[in-house]
Amino acid sequence: MRFKYQTPTGIHDLCGEDQKYLDFLYTKAKEILEFYGFEKIELPILEREELFKRSVGEATDIVEKEMYTLTTLGGEKLVLRPEATASIVRAYIQHGMHTLPQPVKIWTFGPMYRYERPQHGRYRQFYQLDFEILGSDSPSADTQVIFLTFTILKELKLKNLKILINSIGDSCCRPYYKKQLKTFFRPYLESLCKDCQRRFEKNPLRILDCKNQACREIIDLAPQSVDNLCQDCKTHFKRVLEILDNLDLPYLLDPYLVRGLDYYTKTVFEIVISKENLSLGGGGRYDKLVKLLGGPDTPAVGVALGAERIITELKEEKIKVKGMPDPKVFVAKVGDLAQAKALLLLEELRKAKVPVRESLGKDSLRAQLDLANKLKVKWVVILGQKEVIKDRAILRDMKKGTQKEVKISDLVGILKKLALN
Ligand code: AMP
Repeated sequence: MRFKYQTPTGIHDLCGEDQKYLDFLYTKAKEILEFYGFEKIELPILEREELFKRSVGEATDIVEKEMYTLTTLGGEKLVLRPEATASIVRAYIQHGMHTLPQPVKIWTFGPMYRYERPQHGRYRQFYQLDFEILGSDSPSADTQVIFLTFTILKELKLKNLKILINSIGDSCCRPYYKKQLKTFFRPYLESLCKDCQRRFEKNPLRILDCKNQACREIIDLAPQSVDNLCQDCKTHFKRVLEILDNLDLPYLLDPYLVRGLDYYTKTVFEIVISKENLSLGGGGRYDKLVKLLGGPDTPAVGVALGAERIITELKEEKIKVKGMPDPKVFVAKVGDLAQAKALLLLEELRKAKVPVRESLGKDSLRAQLDLANKLKVKWVVILGQKEVIKDRAILRDMKKGTQKEVKISDLVGILKKLALN
């Protein structure tokens, strides 16, 4: 039967197995990032529209076509955040984090919203793990972000990972590269898709992002940014690659990788699944963004990883995650007197780390034992009216069908031993 109220197009619940995978990713990322000194930040889901127009860029797909914008009753234009970096930079400036010892390392995790055409691995609400280093221009910061991205995915036991990397220069060398791109694309203008014709005027670098096959064939002949870097960008990129070599990371130069956001400078990278080049995450350096949004001149670098894509890949590679432990004990109760006793017993079992389930309603003893059977529980504690008065309970072995009376005060000790075997 089709239920009338479905989630909106491209928006999903994450429940059951998916939730376990999401927790797995979150827990691993938290453990690793906090060890490396990243502090967690909870960001608002709503931000001012201007923040993303200014940072992500007016000519990007995100700002042109994909933002969920709403106007409040007070006339404010707000956006459901499409990504986290702009918000992190906003928070860095708003809370004066430039006065803290630098660099400042921040991480966050949560849903992002983009009005995209839903397809495999592309949703309208998706979770991102995001971490950033603000206040360092060192190639070591770039490589730490790349290394940790790789480490998190490796610790999840994902295989077949590949890092694609490029440098897109900065305000010193990029204008010249853009000019070269315009000169190159001008004769092909008629053959480019409508979007690229617009990009040609607004920002020719964005053409390199196009997925259209006809455009891609032309792009493959275009000049490459790495051949047009200024000395500073060249030295920086060379150092990043040297460090990656020493870390023995599987990277590949991708001369047309530009990423879909305008704020990047110098290093850009993506981490992909080798066989289908599906991007699990991507990031790069953005040395001008803090200043652009009104803060002090602060170099920075960061990455965002897509949780749903990682979950899909974990399933694809048949990687198992631990869920909640199976219950070993079931607490059944009969009569009102047993209610409080049952709750207290559950609490003691929690402290003793014995996984337990219970019956909450006023079902018959038979129904409660049926439920215990369905849950494949080995031991059932029956708190009956008569026994509870004597401070006793019945302990039933479900496999053998035998039972005996025990003192309630001895129960936790007995169950702990039984559950461990
Ligand atoms: P971006 O913020 O565009 O740099 O993307 C970083 C990562 O987020 C990508 O590599 C994907 O894993 C994930 N991602 C981006 N857009 C979507 C989407 N619409 N649906 C699911 N995952 C996405």
